[in-house]
Amino acid sequence: MTRPTRVDDLPIRDELRGQHAYGAPQLDVPVRLNTNENPHPLPEALVARIAERVTEAARGLNRYPDRDAVELRTRLAEYLSRGGVPIAPAQVWAANGSNEVIQQLLQAFGGPGRLALGFDPSYSMHALISRGTGTAWLSGPRRADFTVDVEAARAALAEHRPHVVFLCSPNNPTGTAIEPETVLAVYEAAQAARPSLVVVDEAYVEFSHGRSLLELLDGRPNLVITRTMSKAFGAAGLRLGYLAADPAVVEALLLVRLPYHLSSVTQATALAALEHTDTLLGYVEQLKAERDRVAAALAALGLEVVPSDANFIQFGRFADADAAWRTLLDQGVLVRDNGLPGWLRVSIGTEAENDAFLAAVKSVDVVTKKEQQ
Ligand SMILES: *Cc1c(COP(=O)(O)O)cnc(C)c1O
Repeated sequence: MTRPTRVDDLPIRDELRGQHAYGAPQLDVPVRLNTNENPHPLPEALVARIAERVTEAARGLNRYPDRDAVELRTRLAEYLSRGGVPIAPAQVWAANGSNEVIQQLLQAFGGPGRLALGFDPSYSMHALISRGTGTAWLSGPRRADFTVDVEAARAALAEHRPHVVFLCSPNNPTGTAIEPETVLAVYEAAQAARPSLVVVDEAYVEFSHGRSLLELLDGRPNLVITRTMSKAFGAAGLRLGYLAADPAVVEALLLVRLPYHLSSVTQATALAALEHTDTLLGYVEQLKAERDRVAAALAALGLEVVPSDANFIQFGRFADADAAWRTLLDQGVLVRDNGLPGWLRVSIGTEAENDAFLAAVKSVDVVTKKEQQ
């Protein structure tokens, strides 16, 4: 029998050889707190409204969808403008998850011969999508407390002159938001070095203590803020991400997006969800309260907790994070091991899920927690 073909046997691009696919485990356990989803199913009224809107869309499925998703972008602009900074539909672009938005940004502003820089630990997809678009990736520095060190960032930008810079606020996996002054300093340094496109991933901003960075867009055409309906809107299965930027950035993306990339069904579903924004943001308030409760409980157990503006918490430290991860899993609680030595990340679930997690952590405590100061 011939042996099965491996990926590396194929005439695949050299930079993809030996790489691993994005792989948060999708395990069927009672308490799943590993991918920062919203634990609340969509409210029944919204489910019914989606069915209505999708039925309507189905009647027109013989036609291609609105290529430029004008109605959806108008509603998203209205949603963004709620923060007090008016955002026009022409400043908004939507795609199948913010991951696709990021891919389109890299197709237009990165690519072969170009460099993207992010500050790790951060969202691993920034590096993976860079690689997938042929963009070189460089990991920039962070302080030991995981905040972005402006001086070190300035030095890295001046030295490497990246074409695209990624920031993530609140940062995944560590949870902390970046101060607007820091974003501004990085933006200025990136402009002085190249100029380059600065992308701020605000996937979790609705959970933040502070404000969105949307107010920084005015007068900064190379600044992009990405958002998603996967987290605060509790609609990870919908696949709807979007950005706000100068209208010229949106025009640039029209050059690389696939025509009709956003199906009529997706557009209809997202529009239905946006009609229920207030209910969905109500869940966000509950989750924020739960986050603060879980953070306090973890600290009371003697664990280190990174201050969180998101719907997850980075906690530690463990002598062996992998062993701690397994001990929790044995008790039916799935959290995330991002490979950051000593640390684990837990998504905030329902009150009952969080209680199950905290009860499980107490047992880990005994086995593996160790002072590392
Ligand atoms: C979850 C997450 C996203 C969401 O990506 P989608 O493609 O919109 O589901 C984006 N950025 C960060 C930092 C995330 O953690």
